[in-house]
Amino acid sequence: MKYRHLGKAGIQVSELSFGSWVTFHTQSGIEDAVTMMAAAYDAGVNFFDNAEAYAAGKSEEIMGAAIKRLGWRRGSYLVSTKLFWGLHNSPNERNTLNRKYLIEATNASLQRLDLEYVDILFCHRADPNTPIEETVWAMHNIIESGKALYWGTSEWEAAEVIAAIEIAERHHLHKPVAEQPVYNLFERHRFAPAYQRVYEDYGYGSTTWSPLASGLLTGKYQSGIPEGSRGSLESLSWLQKHLTNKDRLAQVARLEPIAKQMGATLAQFSLAWCLQNEQVSTVLTGASRVEQVHENMKAMEFVDKFTPDVLEEIEKIFGKK
Ligand code: NDP
Repeated sequence: MKYRHLGKAGIQVSELSFGSWVTFHTQSGIEDAVTMMAAAYDAGVNFFDNAEAYAAGKSEEIMGAAIKRLGWRRGSYLVSTKLFWGLHNSPNERNTLNRKYLIEATNASLQRLDLEYVDILFCHRADPNTPIEETVWAMHNIIESGKALYWGTSEWEAAEVIAAIEIAERHHLHKPVAEQPVYNLFERHRFAPAYQRVYEDYGYGSTTWSPLASGLLTGKYQSGIPEGSRGSLESLSWLQKHLTNKDRLAQVARLEPIAKQMGATLAQFSLAWCLQNEQVSTVLTGASRVEQVHENMKAMEFVDKFTPDVLEEIEKIFGKK
């Protein structure tokens, strides 16, 4: 495993990391979580991502219990969680980044994770109804209280990130250090030119998500939705139209010989491709079974194999840089 700095921050994150969206509680209980997290950690993963919203808090409980069971030294791993959607139906606790919610939700997440602090606390979405200044102050205060060490944003517009950084600079507050954007062969808009200032001038890091487009980029959806896959989950039926999109399936079919020539599976190829982008600090992987973790961790072997010719072949399929 190799490690990259999280943007300009002092901490380093493994190039491949591990997240629990969809999987923990919905597809995997504590035993599977322990097995998969151990496999990732043994492969060198030092960063584990979660969110309050994942399985309505149950995902944090499972990850916390797994960490306890694994008995890892606290300095050897990083945990993040994310806040925004909320778990309770009251006016101040849904789809918000207001100060009261952020403070209380942080405490509740820590309780579920059974940790004294998270390493990175993300604002899971931007909140147009709370002044960014209020959110920046609240995140600063959470860091000052020792309950989080760094903070970041997820799926924020470039202008919103820059506004947050500039407010923090103006008041000498802890600045956000990283964005958590979607990024895979199909979805590259969060690294569009509008973000270049964020990554280059401000040295923002990135912890990218859905590198396999929820499994589509493994090739497993080429002849329909496999039983037991994410695409078969009732609760995620909205995903099915993406996973069975004919144009996308045709693009995946064209990738297959390129991956094969490299000696990689499609999953390994697609994960390794994400790491070509130097603005990516870490690629958050997901898995429902430990065999997937083993396969995905081997993606590291292919990162150096993307020659200009290979990259050009890929661009011919996706028709964009
Ligand atoms: P992926 O796009 O990589 O999808 C992971 C899923 O693909 C697995 O759960 C599994 O699903 C399938 N899969 C993975 N590896 C293989 C393999 N080798 N062979 C076959 N199938 C495979 O990532 P996620 O969408 O899970 O995102 C990763 C992490 O990013 C999340 O856990 C979360 O931490 C973060 N995230 C953040 C978001 C945000 O808004 N900030 C949003 C979404 C994710 P199955 O076996 O069930 O088919």
